[in-house]
Amino acid sequence: MSDIIQISGLNKWFGSHQVLRDINLNIPAGQKVVVIGPSGSGKSTLIRCINRLEPFQGGEVVVDGHALSGLRRLEAVRREVGMVFQSFNLFPHMNVLRNVMLAPMKLRGLSEAEARTRAMTLLERVGIAEQAAKSPAQLSGGQQQRVAIARALAMEPRIMLFDEPTSALDPEMVGEVLDVMRGLAGSGMTMIVVTHEMGFAREVADRVLFMDRGEVLEDAPPADFFSRPRLERTRTFLQRVA
Ligand code: ADP
Ligand code: MG
Repeated sequence: MSDIIQISGLNKWFGSHQVLRDINLNIPAGQKVVVIGPSGSGKSTLIRCINRLEPFQGGEVVVDGHALSGLRRLEAVRREVGMVFQSFNLFPHMNVLRNVMLAPMKLRGLSEAEARTRAMTLLERVGIAEQAAKSPAQLSGGQQQRVAIARALAMEPRIMLFDEPTSALDPEMVGEVLDVMRGLAGSGMTMIVVTHEMGFAREVADRVLFMDRGEVLEDAPPADFFSRPRLERTRTFLQRVA
């Protein structure tokens, strides 16, 4: 079977500034990929290209058979790719349950009852069911991020992208979000996670990518990546984050 994500010769510029340089990357279904690298190296831009939140100028991204460059209707891809951001981005005027029910009703045609059942199951899965009637502002950051994960999962994506999901959290809340992500990894989901949590990378990743200045400079299983990085730049980076 062909890889669920196929990226070939991907190049992207913001104006005259090239932010992705000839990225080639194939990801089989079910793989967990952790992306690390300095600020500004292109990590967010790379994963945003995978659900076409960002257009790109060269190369191709194929997601579950859909080539993104020529794609007119993005719904098919957006539906297969869930995304969780550093800032939780919940809808502030809706309660937790409604946040999780909304997209399946609007975009997938689920009835209110179906959407409610699915949402409650997911809220249980992320350990938030008892907060379902609260508004996002009444929840802690860690709880809000768990709701954001449930909301993304409600669309039944085949791929989940995480962009520094714990970076905005107080330290004591990082663990509860990583636990949910670990559980998701165990369920066989294809995941790409941008994170500075090296323990998570060692434990969960099948493969760790190191990006710098728009390039993927290393791509190795965590055991190799952390014990013998190929490049001096990687070693320097690891010393700073470890
Ligand atoms: P990272 O996630 O690794 O910190 P980003 O992908 O956010 O890096 O950014 C890569 C480069 O692209 C940076 O130089 C950043 O300033 C630039 N960039 C990101 N988004 C935009 C944008 N919308 N417009 C112009 N430049 C951008
Ligand atoms: Mg980023």
